[in-house]
Amino acid sequence: MSTSAFITTAEVGPTGSGPLDGVTVGVKDNISTAGVRTTCGSAMLEGYVPPYDATVVERLKAAGATVVGKTNMDEFGMGTTTETSAFGPTDNPAAPGRVPGGSSGGSAAAVAAGDADVALGSDTGGSVRCPAAFCGVVGIKPTYGLVSRYGLVAYANSLEQIGPLAPTVEAAAELLDVIAGVDERDATTRAPPAGAPDSYADAADGDVDGLTVGVPTELLEGVDEGVEAAFDEALESLRDRGATTETVSLPSVETAVQAYYVIAMSEASSNLARFDGVRYGPATEADGDWNDAFAAVREEGFGEEVKRRILLGTYALSAGYHDDYYAKAQDARAWVKRDFEEAFEAVDVLASPTMPVPPFELGESLEDPLQMYLADANTVPVNLANLPAISVPAGETDGGPVGVQLVGPAFGEETIVRAGSALA
Ligand code: GLN
Repeated sequence: MSTSAFITTAEVGPTGSGPLDGVTVGVKDNISTAGVRTTCGSAMLEGYVPPYDATVVERLKAAGATVVGKTNMDEFGMGTTTETSAFGPTDNPAAPGRVPGGSSGGSAAAVAAGDADVALGSDTGGSVRCPAAFCGVVGIKPTYGLVSRYGLVAYANSLEQIGPLAPTVEAAAELLDVIAGVDERDATTRAPPAGAPDSYADAADGDVDGLTVGVPTELLEGVDEGVEAAFDEALESLRDRGATTETVSLPSVETAVQAYYVIAMSEASSNLARFDGVRYGPATEADGDWNDAFAAVREEGFGEEVKRRILLGTYALSAGYHDDYYAKAQDARAWVKRDFEEAFEAVDVLASPTMPVPPFELGESLEDPLQMYLADANTVPVNLANLPAISVPAGETDGGPVGVQLVGPAFGEETIVRAGSALA
């Protein structure tokens, strides 16, 4: 069994000098690095070497960072444990024998083990926050549009953002400062509204005096007892520092896991069509018509979980079923967005456990995809609503780290960084 956090090690950059001088960075293997292979954790891209850098990588290098490797991940970001990687699993440095979380498990493990100072992950439905929680490090999922997705191999573009992983809230915010900002190569990027701070890192001052923290009851349902105890302690320490906490309700989140998986799989089924042995993927040797040739490459190159999702996504989008699945999921997504907007009329941030359970034993969850999907209950609503969230370490239970998630209003990164820094 491989326990390594990296699929490929490298030493690239810097191209300039700045706030990341001397900082080593691990980059998730679905983020393009010029001249360094980028596999997405898939046999399909085992030999793929991109000719260009993702915008975030360009910005890292220009800010003084050195990229030390491409980190292990669930294949194309599809998973919660990093075990769907074609390159084998990664062990959890904070809880050996357990999964590091996923899909950015290699990035979190690299930071937790000290193999990289900081790392980049991508978060479609929790893939930065889950591994941050499971490995006892900090992870930020930015507001949709704050960080360029140019050069990120798409899984479900309407949901995902690249985000930082780091040992401290301040270091994660510093990395966000470097990668955030409008990019003309990604038309979905947005400038933060007027009044946004110049530096998110400066907000890591621990000052939560007067902050109102909402705790959605729905995000505590089914949460493991030890996780809930650690979460309660975190709330207590926020109150000790002058914050107030109150219970709120987000009834729509009961539909979030179903809606998320329908939307994510639908987008994936379209995005992954390019891996056909002609545009991307190994050239096919199959004889016969192009359909057989494509099928042969895809049969060989994709793993189980990826195939399952392409099939289900194609089904959800097909004529006759579109209205029953995809259209309903979009309605649920709109409802989730509205619920969050209403909640933020009354509170400054929302708090919940990041993951409802401690890290799984290696091998435990792969048998049962539904169990794996349900573990995303607290993270996927945030992606459906395009909001920012941070996961910060908050003690341990059953020998594994616990993470607390703080969710902010759109472009409210400053608030979640501030609140997160009060817990660290
Ligand atoms: N676990 C979720 C999924 O499998 C989230 C993955 C992600 O954020 N990339 O889709």
